Order: sequence, then structure tokens, then C-alpha cells
Amino acid sequence: MYLRCPLCDGELYCLGSQANLVAFRIDISGQAAEMRPKGSEVHLSPETTVYCLSCAWCGQVQELQASA
Ligand SMILES: [Zn+2]
Repeated sequence: MYLRCPLCDGELYCLGSQANLVAFRIDISGQAAEMRPKGSEVHLSPETTVYCLSCAWCGQVQELQASA
């Protein structure tokens, strides 16, 4: 089970600060999963700001966990 975007129900996120876009899902423990491209390293903390790939939502990992 993955955390879904509160706006569009999407499951794919990225980190806006990265020059090379890495898409990932976030599991219920707040860890990145299914990184694309494969083998990419994404380290999330509850305070990490993530961006939904499908809409304009962005927020902290802990916000997603709170609304799950
Ligand atoms: Zn979204």
C-alpha cells in the first residue's frame, strides 16, 4: 500500500530540488519505493517536501501519512 496524493489520488512523486527527475512511490512507513529510473536512491524524512507528478500538489511526507 502506498500513500496517495490528497488532491488527485496519484501515487507517483518526485523531489523538486533534484536536477535529474526521479519518480517514486511512498509506502505507509514514509519510505520511497519503486524508484524510476531503477536503482535511484531517494531518502525521505517526515519533513521532506515531495511533489505530486500528476497534479500541482506538494507537501511534506508526514502530511501524506497524517491523511492516509
Ligand atoms: Zn496529485
